[in-house]
Amino acid sequence: MAENKLKITGNEQATTISLIRGDGIGPEITDSVIQILEASGANLKYAEIEAGEKLYLSGKTSGISDSAWDTMRKYPTLLKGPITTPRGTGYKSLNVTIRKTLGLFANLRPARTYDPFVKTKHPGTDLIIVRENEEDTYAGIEHRQTREVTQCLKLITQPGTEKIVRYAFEFAKSNGRKKITCMVKDNIMKITDGLFASIFKEIANEYKDIETESMIIDIGAALLANNPQRFDVILAPNLYGDILSDIAAEVTGSVGMCGSSNIGDSIAMFEAVHGSAPDIAGKDIANPTALIKAAVLMLVHIGMPDKANLVRNAVLKALEDGYRTADIYNGEAGTTKVGTKAFTQAIIERLGEIPQILEVRELSRPKTIQLQKPTKIESKELVGVDIFIDEYYNRDPENLGKTLDAFTNKSLHLKMITNRGVKVYPDGQPETFLTDHFRCRFVANEGQKVSTKDILELMATFEAKGMDVIKTENLYTFDGKIGYSLGQGE
Ligand code: NAD
Repeated sequence: MAENKLKITGNEQATTISLIRGDGIGPEITDSVIQILEASGANLKYAEIEAGEKLYLSGKTSGISDSAWDTMRKYPTLLKGPITTPRGTGYKSLNVTIRKTLGLFANLRPARTYDPFVKTKHPGTDLIIVRENEEDTYAGIEHRQTREVTQCLKLITQPGTEKIVRYAFEFAKSNGRKKITCMVKDNIMKITDGLFASIFKEIANEYKDIETESMIIDIGAALLANNPQRFDVILAPNLYGDILSDIAAEVTGSVGMCGSSNIGDSIAMFEAVHGSAPDIAGKDIANPTALIKAAVLMLVHIGMPDKANLVRNAVLKALEDGYRTADIYNGEAGTTKVGTKAFTQAIIERLGEIPQILEVRELSRPKTIQLQKPTKIESKELVGVDIFIDEYYNRDPENLGKTLDAFTNKSLHLKMITNRGVKVYPDGQPETFLTDHFRCRFVANEGQKVSTKDILELMATFEAKGMDVIKTENLYTFDGKIGYSLGQGE
């Protein structure tokens, strides 16, 4: 939709929100949210963006109009209904596109229980997952390197991690949260997850009032599934955070009731955690609570915390008064099963009322994150190279090792060969399974400096011997500390 055709609804002096109504149940639950926001007196108007299934099916594989980016830049708060990603190749998930294009680095997913009003196995759960949203394996850098081996690059960066860690602490501080649990797998990924964990530990020193703990992701996920009440704020890199937030939504018994925010430096997006539920679309039975909760987060973000409280309290009061959409209705005495419209009406009628039993937690927006300037730039030295080769037809590590030992030049010699990270030369074990993908580690000869030219010469030797080099990875030290992992068995 061209900017001059932008459909803007609402009062002229209002704050303008970019709006994607979405597909499936999207339009119904978006209508519900807009009606509630209007009834709350929040002074908003909406700039509608064309996005979703209709665009995908008309051949726009991104699923979003080109002018949408300018609209979001002009009106940097986006409320988004769920979008259907048509099955089949070529369609990119719009969520991932929006998050990455607009630099929405923090994904916030609150998960709480509404006991005794909504059945749950874990009463008293009230936690928030702060998930890094741009890096990790979700950078989407993947390659097929040989006939047998594929690779996905996991990128964890210092500034990206610092940003999300600071955000988590600032969020906890401004929202009265007492503890942050960081979940990583730094016993295995010592460099990438190790960086995340060490930045968490370092920044924790600046927030002495907030208790911190670090957990390995596997035990962390198990504890979250079994005892979610023990958590307050959980911080995690992208992939783990994605999985943890679904576990959290599931164990609180509220997949249809979880809203989320995606926060960037200038733009922020607010959405429901669930999808477009095409199976129940157009039937007036969808639960609008998740998108309403996203709108509550949005109101806090745009500086209308009073309106946020008004809406949130009315939702809790409607639950206390027995109103249930089909997904959370179980026929209990004193409850009424209602459709989307009637549930919306019940909320509107309760604007201004205070829940009597359900605990109210007010939200506030954390202050803007400032990254610290590094106090010292480390010295970086090239000390070797890992050369990855495709050996589909010849998988004899001893033979390969002897060939490569002879490649020694004035600065580099073969240190080891690994297959899927396990050392197979020298002194490999016969049981180790071999794929067609070998890593050959060359390191500096005693007292020698290594240059890029030395590495190029070495690669020329591989080429001359007819070997298939797939890729190289330089080995560096930083202030004398090695910046690469050792092979298993090295
Ligand atoms: P889904 O979340 O849409 O539905 C899963 C189940 O939960 C369905 O039975 C559905 O009826 C129910 N459900 C979901 N939201 C509900 C609500 N508010 N009220 C009552 N019941 C609700 O997941 P799916 O079926 O895997 O995906 C459907 C489509 O949504 C797919 O095209 C998928 O790509 C898309 N999707 C979009 C988003 C997003 O835009 N944020 C997120 C997830 C999935």
